[in-house]
Amino acid sequence: MTTQSKIALVTGGAGFIGSHLIDRLLAEGARVTCVDNLQTGRAANLAHLGSEPRFSFIEADVIDRLPAKLRLGKTRFTHVYHLACAASPPHYQADPEHTMLTCVLGTRNLLRFAEEQGARFLLTSTSEVYGDPEVHPQPETYRGWVNCTGPRACYDEGKRAAETLTFDFARAKRVDVRVARIFNTYGPRMRADDGRVVSNIVCQALGDEDITVYGDGSQTRSFCYVSDMVDGLMRLMNSEPAPGAPVNLGNPNELTVSDLVDRVLALTGSRSAVVHRPLPIDDPRRRRPDISRARDILGWEPRVDLQAGLEATAAWFAQERRAGSTLGAELLTVAAE
Ligand code: UDP
Repeated sequence: MTTQSKIALVTGGAGFIGSHLIDRLLAEGARVTCVDNLQTGRAANLAHLGSEPRFSFIEADVIDRLPAKLRLGKTRFTHVYHLACAASPPHYQADPEHTMLTCVLGTRNLLRFAEEQGARFLLTSTSEVYGDPEVHPQPETYRGWVNCTGPRACYDEGKRAAETLTFDFARAKRVDVRVARIFNTYGPRMRADDGRVVSNIVCQALGDEDITVYGDGSQTRSFCYVSDMVDGLMRLMNSEPAPGAPVNLGNPNELTVSDLVDRVLALTGSRSAVVHRPLPIDDPRRRRPDISRARDILGWEPRVDLQAGLEATAAWFAQERRAGSTLGAELLTVAAE
C-alpha cells in the first residue's frame, strides 16, 4: 500500500502524542481523521491543520456510539491508531469510571469499527500494565504487579483489559492488530497542567516556583522523546507480519526523579527550590523498558538524547508562557500515601 492511499483514523489525536502522529501521517501523504473528546487533548494542538484538505476533526467520545460521519461512503479506513485515553495519573484518576470505560468500551468500539472497515488496528497500551515491577528492566513477557483495587487501577487494569480484547479480536481473526506498550514520553505539546513529572518540573523551573519532588526522588523512570515514540508507533503499525504480542516502546535511559530535576535546573538556570511531597499511592519505584523486541522486529530504537529533548521541551514551554497559555493553571495532584 502506498502512503498516499492510507486513510487513518487517530483517536486521541488532539493529545500530545496523537497530534505529533497526525503531523507525521499527513507529511507522508496519508488522509487522516481525528476523533477526540478534548478531555485532555487540545484543539490548539491541531490548529495548524485548519486548511489541510486531507485532515478532518470530529469531537466525540470513543465510549459512545461512533459518529455516523466516520462511515466514508465507499471509502474505507485502512488504519486505526487508537490513542484515546487520559494518560496522566491526576487526569486519569479524576474520573476513574470514565477512564476504565474508555479503555474497555472505547477499545471494543474501535476494534469493531476496524473489523467493519477492514482496517489494521493499533492499540496504545502502557508500561503501567507492569504496575510496580518486580522485574527490571521490563520485558514484554513480564506479567506485571498491579494493585487491582488501587487508585491507578482504572488505567492499569483498563489497559490490561484493552490488550485482552485486542488479542481476542486477533485470535478470532476479526482484526489485524498491533499493541504498543508506551513508556514515559515527553516533548512539546504536553499540557502545562498535565501533572506528570517532566511538564511539572519544567514549568516550575521556568517560573522559578518550587519544584515538587514526590517522595525522596530516588524512584526512576526512563523518558522517551515524542518524535522517537511516533516513529516507533508508525513502524509497529507498518510491521509485517504482525508481531502477535505487545511491543515495548520507550527509551531505556533510566534516571531518578532527582537526577531529572538537577538536569532541568541546570538547563533552565532556574532559581527554584526543591520541595518534597508525599509519594502517590502505588507509585512505581522504578521503570525501564527492555526494547529488545522493538529493536529486533522494528529495527527501532530512540535517537533523541535526554539533553536535546529537554532543551526542545523547555523551549516550547517557554514560548507557551510568553503566549500566555494555560501555564498558570493549578497543577493537579493525585492521592498520596
Ligand atoms: N513526580 C514528581 N513530581 C511531580 C510529578 C511526578 O516527583 O511533580 C514523580 C511521580 O511520583 C513518579 C515520577 O515522578 O514517581 C513520574 O511520574 P509521572 O506522573 O510523570 O508518570 P508515571 O510514570 O508515574 O505515570
